[in-house]
Amino acid sequence: MENPIITLKTKKDQSLRRFHPWVFSGAIKKIQGAPVNGGIVEVQSNHGEFLGLGHWAEGSIAVRVFSFENKEPESSFWLEKLRRAYDARRAVGLIDSAETTMYRLVHAEGDGMPGLIIDWYDGVAVMQAHSWGMHQQFPQLIEGLQELYGDQLKAVYDKSAKTLKKSGAISEDGYLLKNNEPDLTAAEYGVKFEIDWLEGQKTGFFIDQRENRRLLGEYAKGKSVLNTFCYTGGFSLFAMKAGAKTVHSLDSSARALNLVTNNIKLNGYDDSNHKNIKADAVEYLKDLDQDYDIVILDPPAFAKHMSARHQAIQGYKRINAHAIRQIKPGGIIFTFSCSQAVDKQVFNHTITAAAISAGRRVRVLHQLHQPADHPINIFHPEGEYLKGLVLLVE
Ligand code: SAH
Repeated sequence: MENPIITLKTKKDQSLRRFHPWVFSGAIKKIQGAPVNGGIVEVQSNHGEFLGLGHWAEGSIAVRVFSFENKEPESSFWLEKLRRAYDARRAVGLIDSAETTMYRLVHAEGDGMPGLIIDWYDGVAVMQAHSWGMHQQFPQLIEGLQELYGDQLKAVYDKSAKTLKKSGAISEDGYLLKNNEPDLTAAEYGVKFEIDWLEGQKTGFFIDQRENRRLLGEYAKGKSVLNTFCYTGGFSLFAMKAGAKTVHSLDSSARALNLVTNNIKLNGYDDSNHKNIKADAVEYLKDLDQDYDIVILDPPAFAKHMSARHQAIQGYKRINAHAIRQIKPGGIIFTFSCSQAVDKQVFNHTITAAAISAGRRVRVLHQLHQPADHPINIFHPEGEYLKGLVLLVE
């Protein structure tokens, strides 16, 4: 093997020996050869022992390790990984489900493919690379998708322009394959959504809230529901399907609220009990103009980095304290955080602090998390990013 060799400082090998796939730039003692962005490097301990093979990148995560085996990857290497990801989705009933036609096929470290997301929208695979090394595997991965899905694969869309910009690599969003004009809708437990991978956030939809939206449906019948940070209205639609008395969808983006309106039409739901509210959620929650039975708080990641963690915690505390203070007695709050930098324990403490400041009795009914198509590599606990609580407020 003639890959450049990255030697780690003493003791910095420990996390890799436990199969954690990241090497931070600060852990590197010596570099032999000339690693290039996206190229393969071999990682060794301070004593020269082999630890893993990974993709090199400029930045704080210098190497994303994709193999802990001391052998050059074979040509079928990525196809095998893709197949294992596919098999895992089949095992949880997502492949060929009639009522759910969108799911995450590859969840980066959770599927042993650090730096790669592939979301499946009823025939369209939206691929997003977070490392240039992974982006270079796209041709092989697309062959793999063709093999796995056959005629079901209508298009492949590359949505890496933004995510790769940080790594200094240049890529443009666009179709990498287009067999037929793709259908822009997909379903989640029978509820249809318009998916906009061209302009939408992430790969077009927040697939990760699927199970939590379904759970909301179980509580929503006859209730007045406020869905804040609603984006495409995922939670709103499940509340409407369940027969909520009223549903209010709130977002600061007019584009998002248009999506909600379209999605209600798409499903043919009666919209006379639904209202869009264009507002800042934090301001709106300060002084609710109505007593709600159910409030959903699903803000964007307040903390994208550890440095922003303190401020993020204050943000979560504030919106949760407002909601806890103002909700009807017996009301229920679905509250979430998708910030990787705020772990489950910190999130729970933050909600406790919010309950204390609101001065009401609060019980936890459910502890929620990301669904099975967003698996967590047990050696990479950072992969557990979505946390939620369902609170009953007396
Ligand atoms: N709950 C959604 C996903 C939320 S994404 C789902 O189930 O799919 C976060 C949303 O918050 C985005 O649509 C964004 O426009 C909105 N947003 C961000 N800051 C906001 C603010 N201060 N007030 C209201 N909405 C905000």
